[in-house]
Amino acid sequence: MDTALLLTAMDFAARKHRDQRRKDPEKSPYVNHPIAVALVVAGVGGVVDAVTILAAILHDTVEDTDTSFAELEASFGREVRDVVAEVTDDKSLLKDERKRLQVEHAPHASLRAKIVKLADKTCNVIDVNNSPPPDWSVERRREFLDWSSAVVAGCRGANAEIEAGFDREIASARARLGS
Ligand code: NDP
Ligand code: ZN
Repeated sequence: MDTALLLTAMDFAARKHRDQRRKDPEKSPYVNHPIAVALVVAGVGGVVDAVTILAAILHDTVEDTDTSFAELEASFGREVRDVVAEVTDDKSLLKDERKRLQVEHAPHASLRAKIVKLADKTCNVIDVNNSPPPDWSVERRREFLDWSSAVVAGCRGANAEIEAGFDREIASARARLGS
């Protein structure tokens, strides 16, 4: 893959997410998350497709920052823009509706979008297991794991290695919560 383009995407995501933090107690820099997702795509999933890896790095830029789809298309092309669009929630909807739509839309997503989703859910389950938001009850963490599993169910068949990784992480998270 084009190394300069990969670094351009990492630089773009780092700039866009620069004022954001994750919800873990340490308030980690947000950009660690999209980098971790791209690492799961390439490192666990063995994916070499540049569009999928770039989309993983950029997957939360439109949903969580002022980035527009036009901006993504201008810098990274139509295909990357389209995959990011597939994994971007409509923020005008209520949260519960957005969560329901993720479950409903997953089976109809493209192969690339399913791979990004699988890696995203894997990373978030790892986060909930190792460094959950401090105000989340055990019940809320369980609900999050159930919802993540429901989204992943709709993505199965896209990448066996990432799916196996998700299964290991969710089993570990459930064991810790005693469920
Ligand atoms: P979410 O439940 O959507 O928060 C999780 C999201 O935050 C992840 O998907 C991830 O998204 C991001 N995130 C950032 N840091 C972390 C981290 N350390 N661990 C895990 N995820 C992280 O957010 P809301 O706060 O918006 O909650 C809304 C939902 O929660 C509602 O659907 C509601 O039903 C439910 N809820 C349940 C309660 C309960 O007690 N049972 C109480 C209140 C709400 P990304 O990858 O996009 O960054
Ligand atoms: Zn994400």
